[in-house]
Amino acid sequence: MFSFRVLKSEGRARLGELITPHGRIETPVFMPVGTQGTVKAMLHKDLLDLGTQIILGNTYHLYLRPGLEVIREAGGLHAFVGWHKPLLTDSGGFQVFSLSRGRGEGRSGVRVREEGVEFRDHLAGDLHFFSPEKVVEFQEVFGSDIIMPLDECLEYPTTYAQARVALERTLNWLDRSVTAKRREDQVLFGIVQGAFFEELRIESALRTVERNLFGYAIGGLSVGEPKEVMYAMTELVCQYLPWDKPRYLMGVGMPEDILEAVAMGVDMFDCVAPTRMARTGTLFTSKGRVNIRNERYKRDFSPPDEECDCYTCKNFTRAYLRHLFNAEEISAYVLNTLHNLRFYHRLMESIRKAIKEGRFEDFRSSWHKAYTLQA
Ligand SMILES: [Zn+2]
Repeated sequence: MFSFRVLKSEGRARLGELITPHGRIETPVFMPVGTQGTVKAMLHKDLLDLGTQIILGNTYHLYLRPGLEVIREAGGLHAFVGWHKPLLTDSGGFQVFSLSRGRGEGRSGVRVREEGVEFRDHLAGDLHFFSPEKVVEFQEVFGSDIIMPLDECLEYPTTYAQARVALERTLNWLDRSVTAKRREDQVLFGIVQGAFFEELRIESALRTVERNLFGYAIGGLSVGEPKEVMYAMTELVCQYLPWDKPRYLMGVGMPEDILEAVAMGVDMFDCVAPTRMARTGTLFTSKGRVNIRNERYKRDFSPPDEECDCYTCKNFTRAYLRHLFNAEEISAYVLNTLHNLRFYHRLMESIRKAIKEGRFEDFRSSWHKAYTLQA
C-alpha cells in the first residue's frame, strides 16, 4: 500500500514518488497545514486546484475538538472532513509543549514523565495525559496515511543535559509507538531530535534509523534558533538518513528555507507561513514578500505576482487586495491564502521539474537572486 522511490537526483536534491492508500505524492512536496481539519480560508476544491497533494492535521486540536468519538463515528478523518487525498497527522506533542506552556502547575504547565506528558489544554484549561500509545491510538482513529510518534520537543536554547534526556525519551517513546501500532494502512515516521548539539543530532539520527521505519522526520527545529543553525542541523542529519526513505523537515519554513533544505536532501515540508501570513496581509512573490497593507500599493494596479498563474493574480490587482484587506473583507483572507499556497506549490513544482531536467543548481541560484529583488 505504501512505497517510496527516488526517481532522480542532483547532488543531494531528490525527485521522488511516495505512494499511499489515498494517492500518489510527488516529492519534494509542501503540505498545507489544516489544523482543525480545514486549511484556513480554503475549500478542499481550491486546494485541489492549487496542486495540493497532501494536507496535515493536528492531533492536539482534533483530539480536543471535535474529539475522538465524533471522528470515529464519522468513519475517520478523511470521511469526517471530506478530504480523500493523503493526510498526515502530527503527534500533538509540539502543541502540547508550545500551547500549554505557562498554563497551570509545573514549571511550564507541562509535566513530562517517562509514561508520557500531562498538560492543561489552551481552551478550557482541563488536564489531559498523552502517552506514546494513546497518540498512536488517536491517529489510528483518524486513519491518517502518515502518523507521527510522540516526541519531546525542547525550546531554543536548551542545555546539553536536557537535550540528552529528551533524546533518550524520544527513542523510548518511538519504540513504544512501534509496539502500539496496529493498523497496516498507515505508516509511522521516526523523529530525529538532539536539539542544537551536533553529537546528539548524529546519535539521534543513527539510533532512529536503526528502528527501520518507513520514513524519518527532523524535529525540534524552527523553534527560535538562528537560520544558520537550523540549516547546519538539517544538513548534518540528512547525511545520516538512508537514501531510499522519505525525509520530512517538520515546521519549516519560508520559501528560501525550503529551497535550501531540498538541496540538502529533504523531501517533505509543512509550515503555517503561507496561510497564517496571508491572513496578516503578507504575499509571497517571485521578487520577495509584499505587505499588501502598505500605502505604496494604494494605486498599484498590477497583479500581486506577474509570474503567478493563480486565480488571484489572474483577476485582481494589489490595489484591490489592499482595499479588501483594509475593509476586513473575508475575501481578502481567501484571495491572499489562495495566492500564497499557489506560490508554495509552484515553487515545489519548479523544484521537481528542475531536478528532473538536471538543472536544480541553476534554478536554485536564479530563484534566490530574483527573490531578493524588491517586489
Ligand atoms: Zn498568485
